[in-house]
Amino acid sequence: MKSKNLRLNTAIRAIETTTGLQLLKPEAQASMVGVTIEDFEIRIYGRSDLKDDALLLAKAAWLDGEISLKDYNEIAKAFGLSSLMNCKVIYAPTGRAGEYGGLATNPYDGCSHGCEYCYVPKMKRMKPSLFHEKAKPRENFIQMLEADLKKYQEHGITGKQIFITFSSDPYNPDDNELTRQAIILIHQYGLGVNILSKGGKRALKDLCLFIPGLDSYGATLISESEETRLLWEKNTAPVQERIETLEAFQEAGIHTWVSLEPVVSIKDTSEAIQATRHAVGLYKVGKMNHVSSGKLDIDWVRAITDLVLSLQACGYWAVDGTQERQAGYYIKEDLRKELLKVNEHRWDSSGFNERWYRHSIEGKGLK
Ligand code: SF4
Repeated sequence: MKSKNLRLNTAIRAIETTTGLQLLKPEAQASMVGVTIEDFEIRIYGRSDLKDDALLLAKAAWLDGEISLKDYNEIAKAFGLSSLMNCKVIYAPTGRAGEYGGLATNPYDGCSHGCEYCYVPKMKRMKPSLFHEKAKPRENFIQMLEADLKKYQEHGITGKQIFITFSSDPYNPDDNELTRQAIILIHQYGLGVNILSKGGKRALKDLCLFIPGLDSYGATLISESEETRLLWEKNTAPVQERIETLEAFQEAGIHTWVSLEPVVSIKDTSEAIQATRHAVGLYKVGKMNHVSSGKLDIDWVRAITDLVLSLQACGYWAVDGTQERQAGYYIKEDLRKELLKVNEHRWDSSGFNERWYRHSIEGKGLK
């Protein structure tokens, strides 16, 4: 409880320092004594940069009438990653999703890729069989997207990427037209897109729309093996097709990345790195969280250290994940927590220490 209070106070200071605004009135600040993050329904995932915390705290302050909507929007702009308050379909994802991008939008509901580890049905409290039937375009999505984009334009926010999508695959087997329309519209308002797909070559028809230096194209790859793919992601595009699509985007000058999430075995993930290293700027590595751990038998400390070593051997270095279009590798929070869980004896006997952690996991300098 104490550390969360500390975190809350740090978040307040972070907002005030960044924006130059006094977030809370003195009397409100006094009443913050003993207030916890939970009181604001803020979910903390241990991110070091505090941006998510600060943004959510600002939202709570606005809802409590402590700051105006104008102040909230100023804060949102200052942090550069947030959704504006009254947007309908552009939002700032938090927690695990927030590690994929500062802004996101979801054109579809449902996805017939049918991945075994899919987290969305649970999140939406839907039967997996129903969710995996078909990707359904969201009603009036383009109209709502344009209304939101106008708000970003009014606030002078340009050059940021919008991640597509957390609730389906932008290049799912059923419909990709809405993805195409969304990309065109987002560009018209001076923002970029960050795509993550397992749809392989379906994305190529839109390659001509992507803008170098603004957009990113990513593919999820849990293995180089077709056998592993069929076991976990039965209706997705073949691995080779996904690799060739990454190659095409890279050749066109688009920032490319691979989501190595979820890690199903050290061997599978290492092979996926080797098979894609010639065509990838950034790797994001994450743990399986939505399938019973009984299905996997992974020594996570070994997995993380082995994968980090093989990424470094391929010439990639840790980044902290706070910037868009980075090059290197990013170890997600859930994996970092596995490393921090190990006892000191094991940590030292593995030859790794705090200095290594800061450099090779957090992407911080050696000084
Ligand atoms: S591609 Fe994504 S949304 Fe679709 S089934 Fe797989 S994990 Fe779920």
